[in-house]
Amino acid sequence: MRHVGRFAPSPTGDLHWGSLLVALGSWLEARAAGGRWLLRIEDVDTLRAVPGAAARQQAQLVALGLIADAPPWVQSARGEAYAQALQRLAQAGHAYPCACTRGDLADHGGVHPSRCVRPVRGDAHAWRLRVPAGITAFDDALQGRFEQNLRQAVGDFVLRRTDGPWAYQLAVVVDDAAAGVTDVVRGADLLDSTPRQILLQRLLGLPTPRYLHLPVLVDATGQKLSKSAGATALPADSARALRVALRLLGQTAAAAAPARDRAALLAHAVKHYDRAGLPRARTLAAPQTDAVEAARTLAAFPDTRNAP
Ligand code: GLU
Repeated sequence: MRHVGRFAPSPTGDLHWGSLLVALGSWLEARAAGGRWLLRIEDVDTLRAVPGAAARQQAQLVALGLIADAPPWVQSARGEAYAQALQRLAQAGHAYPCACTRGDLADHGGVHPSRCVRPVRGDAHAWRLRVPAGITAFDDALQGRFEQNLRQAVGDFVLRRTDGPWAYQLAVVVDDAAAGVTDVVRGADLLDSTPRQILLQRLLGLPTPRYLHLPVLVDATGQKLSKSAGATALPADSARALRVALRLLGQTAAAAAPARDRAALLAHAVKHYDRAGLPRARTLAAPQTDAVEAARTLAAFPDTRNAP
């Protein structure tokens, strides 16, 4: 089956070193396999989405030479598809309405006890997935075997929140299947979301893609870089940013190639892509961007946050 990969940033701020690692990793996997590479704007969580961030991220990707093969999928426009999936799950008895509050669940360690403690009245309720007993496992191409007892670890999880937004877990499964994604490359912070997504794929009769979870970049204090916290900006010199990211991805020969420009560097990296070089770690130390370069980046991508 032809490789279809994707990069799916949440529009909560500018792309940083961690997002570049994932964008470049998924792009290289797709291009080295002669496959397609898609972009998805994960804006289901409308409260966290920063106006203008999606456009800035797309401009950053273009500047880096990481160009998707189709216009981006936008989750905020996909409500109908998520509603159909929820309806199928509910009709098959896999999803149920739930009006329990966070406070109600605190007595159960935050995990839903599978039997609601509060009755459902009217429309003010969430939808949860009824999680069966048993272990859900998968083999990650980089991190190896990963197993989770979903019932114990997360319990019956939310598919749609009381106030309306769709849960990331449902949206990602519906969208990956609709776009024909065969290979998910993303950060290792999402390893423990994968069993929930595999369970949903099974219950919805959807194929399970292959997974490859890259290490998450952490700062000097061990914290994951975060777009919303204004994490280390990428340098404006895209060829330099790509070389640093290639080195982090263990593509040392490609990173050192005497390429004329960004396009030549990327072409070389695809030709010499070496999956065995990828670091088999859950976290990696983020590179430093010096203040002068960060300021240049901000000038190259003017703030559109207040744009209409
Ligand atoms: N939207 C998620 C993020 O920005 C990625 C989700 C995924 O790749 O499945 O971290």
